Amino acid sequence: MSRKSDKFAFVNFSSICSNCGENCCKRFYAVLLPEEEGEFRESSFEVSTRFGNLRAVGSRGGIPCQYLDGEGLCAIYSRRPLDCRLWPVMVYYDFNTGEKIVYLDLDCPAVSSGRISRELIDDIVSRLKEIEFDEEWLKKYTLAPWPNHLVEIARFGPTK
Ligand code: SF4
Repeated sequence: MSRKSDKFAFVNFSSICSNCGENCCKRFYAVLLPEEEGEFRESSFEVSTRFGNLRAVGSRGGIPCQYLDGEGLCAIYSRRPLDCRLWPVMVYYDFNTGEKIVYLDLDCPAVSSGRISRELIDDIVSRLKEIEFDEEWLKKYTLAPWPNHLVEIARFGPTK
């Protein structure tokens, strides 16, 4: 079975992220899809939401992600989880309409300085429309604690 993350193999922010002083992997966690939990069983931790728990990798308690190497690069870049691959793009569930909402996260300096091309963002959104997310997982993901400096860029669905 192909991983959802593999469908976004064209997403490569490495040139945008190199030399970033605010390395997101030192600040944030990445929620795992259900299909990713087994692969990262040993390195993941629990994130609680009012709809249930999720598993995540990345930073917590001020400690950088264990996969971050000494040069500030991801040691598992080619097989990083989908949440890592897509951020600063995020997909949330709209509890009012059942739609999926695509956001850009303004906590990424490349977003706030306009260094991510509209073409790449549009390609990501197009591919996201083809992905079937587990709705229960997406609801929990939406409720996972997050700074939420988000700007909506697209929505599609509804999912119900
Ligand atoms: S797995 Fe890689 S991309 Fe994801 S938070 Fe860790 S170092 Fe960053």
